[in-house]
Amino acid sequence: MPVGTLGTVKALDPEDLQRSGVEMVLANTYHLFLRPGDDVVRELGGLHRFMAWDGPILTDSGGFQVFSLEGLRSVDEDGVEFRSHIDGSRRRFTPESVMRIQRNLGADVIMQFDHVIPGQSDVTASREASERSIRWLERCLAEVRASEATGHRSQATGSAESRVTSHESPQALFPIVQGGIHPQLRKDAARVITGMSDWHGVAIGGLSVGESKPDMYAMLELLHPELPADRPRYLMGVGFPEDLIEAVRRGVDLFDCVAPTRMGRNGTAFSSTGRLNIKRADFRTDPRPIDEACDCAACRRFSRAYLRHLYISDEILGLRLLSLHNVHFLVSLMRGARAAIQAGTIDSWASEWLDRLASGPEPQT
Ligand SMILES: [Zn+2]
Repeated sequence: MPVGTLGTVKALDPEDLQRSGVEMVLANTYHLFLRPGDDVVRELGGLHRFMAWDGPILTDSGGFQVFSLEGLRSVDEDGVEFRSHIDGSRRRFTPESVMRIQRNLGADVIMQFDHVIPGQSDVTASREASERSIRWLERCLAEVRASEATGHRSQATGSAESRVTSHESPQALFPIVQGGIHPQLRKDAARVITGMSDWHGVAIGGLSVGESKPDMYAMLELLHPELPADRPRYLMGVGFPEDLIEAVRRGVDLFDCVAPTRMGRNGTAFSSTGRLNIKRADFRTDPRPIDEACDCAACRRFSRAYLRHLYISDEILGLRLLSLHNVHFLVSLMRGARAAIQAGTIDSWASEWLDRLASGPEPQT
């Protein structure tokens, strides 16, 4: 899922995403709650209509953003009080309010509100956050069930309220397995959560936040037998090609990350032989596309020399084309992974890709 923080995948039109084969996008609850406001989005027909994206949308819970506001927030059992990064106003998130905001936004998949902690937290802090996240999950689930019951009632009576809510379709609430890099905590969390409800999918949170790669892979391997095999698993905040490949071979299905668009805007392109920095002096006269193996709208038409020129000259098109290429690259990579899984060749596919990515871009001949 490309990340559309503010209801837009930066520099890309929804039609660009469709052409690249993107199926699902992510939007941020915290940001849309502050601006333009979830009530405004609801008034305008929900996020799908607002951003003109008719594919599936996942909204995060805002937990990651409010817990990142170090010094600007306070946490208690009820929820989190924080100051808006836009105007400093005092706001509060609770499991219930975050469910209502995501209901207003109208995403297809909504995330539970969880207690997010730094990646290297010790076992005591990790246990506290994980157990609180599970208590908050119970409250999220109760809130979703209550609002579904109300929705059904108003539809049955054909009241005015049902017309207002008619654009709303059922939403899948995903729980988030926390527990840091502590094996027993992860296992305990997975068991309690999977025993709580028949979830449509399960997220794995609190990884890719500064822990070592072997620790992240160990947590995925340990969770593999604990999570339902027939439901999607979503590894939150992971999006570099190597990480996607390593996680897919450990059973993960869904990812999100700002990396493809953020790196694109910083002049870095993914390629099948590793990352390349478009600003490099030797690209000044390089007629080759970013990646000869890529069939995106940038690689089909433009040279490295032209993209470098656009980037160095601060032309908007340069940022757009690099973002487009990076999103297209990751989506194609995942399409390849799906085909390899179906063909039963995921392990050799993964090893070949990892070798190629580590080989580095070839110099100009
Ligand atoms: Zn490309």
